[in-house]
Amino acid sequence: MVPVFAPLSVVPVRGEGSRLWDQQGRDYIDFGAGVAVTSLGHAHPVLLKALQEQAAKVWHISNYYTNEPALRLAAKLCAATFAERVFFCNSGAEANEAALKLARKRAVDKYGPEKIDIIAFNGSFHGRTFFTVSVGGQAKYSSGMGPNPAGIVHIDLHDEAALRRAVGKNTCAIIVEPVVGESGVVPVKPEFLKLLRDLATEHDAALIFDEVQSGNGRTGALYAYMNTGVQPDILTTAKGLGGGFPIGAMLTTAAIADAHFTPGVHGSTFGGNPLACAVAEATFDIISSPEVLAEVRRKAAHAATRLRAIGEKYGCFQEVRESGLWLGCELKPEYAGRAGAFMGAAAESGVLVLVAGPNVVRIATSLVITDEELDTGLDRFDSACQRFFAA
Ligand SMILES: *Cc1c(COP(=O)(O)O)cnc(C)c1O
Repeated sequence: MVPVFAPLSVVPVRGEGSRLWDQQGRDYIDFGAGVAVTSLGHAHPVLLKALQEQAAKVWHISNYYTNEPALRLAAKLCAATFAERVFFCNSGAEANEAALKLARKRAVDKYGPEKIDIIAFNGSFHGRTFFTVSVGGQAKYSSGMGPNPAGIVHIDLHDEAALRRAVGKNTCAIIVEPVVGESGVVPVKPEFLKLLRDLATEHDAALIFDEVQSGNGRTGALYAYMNTGVQPDILTTAKGLGGGFPIGAMLTTAAIADAHFTPGVHGSTFGGNPLACAVAEATFDIISSPEVLAEVRRKAAHAATRLRAIGEKYGCFQEVRESGLWLGCELKPEYAGRAGAFMGAAAESGVLVLVAGPNVVRIATSLVITDEELDTGLDRFDSACQRFFAA
């Protein structure tokens, strides 16, 4: 394979719940969930059944036809959110690509070719297609590949003055992650989201919430926007949506979709695939239940309390940010840049964690992790911290 990844030496071969086993039969507690993807853990019986049942019926039929799992999933997503229309695709980047194209199309249709400016935030991540790396706020992902698409402005999160300078009559979209994931699990202040909403409305620009990582129960709300009091015009999601089966979705209103995403304007060969939609529907049925979401919040509070205590014991974290079962442990300045190395140490201690940039250890567990798995993982995390930071 091309060397764009630098995988750890551990090769997981089997999983069950929040445990994974490697080629040597060693077990690990999975605190990464495949980067916030396996929202119901590994080998969940309900998802297995949904996959097997659909696999025996039909795998793929293309978008020349529709299919029952896609229709059902779209109806459920619309019933549970602000949305009235859904576009299915296969990843977060594709969902954002669709959102950005739709926002541009809408603005150009309504106001002409000048209204193409997209406001985005430094440090944000929206995927790896050329449009989404250009909109994402991390130059290292978008530079060195020739000219980037025009009309994209990056400003700092929470910089109200810069925002007011940047937004204008040619703004077609403002795109933000309500909780910034790859840059450290940082929740955006609700008053700032409100300001984005007001400015987008004032200039008739689309407000896009990238909930690829924050969506599908991750924060303890079904979608993070539901806890902010601010409603977007377009919402993108993927990662946890399929519980491990690749699927992405862009959600929007009928007014926007029906006028501007007409037949032929956008598409996808695999988008809305029946297998993906069947598994996502089964996943959605579980994570959208109030009981499961309440459990996410209870377990998240427990995990945050223990992680803060671990941080005090070894003097390693300056802050532990909790957004549901999605936690960012920010290293103290003396350990700056060492999150990646800690990830290896944690694996040696039998717990698989993530990073979010060089200074934040990120944890994203299954949303249905058991108390036993959570505490065993935290015990192993404690041992890893002792070896790595106290040694
Ligand atoms: C992971 C992620 C993406 C990209 O998703 P892919 O499925 O890798 O294309 C986009 N936005 C956010 C916020 C993400 O966390």
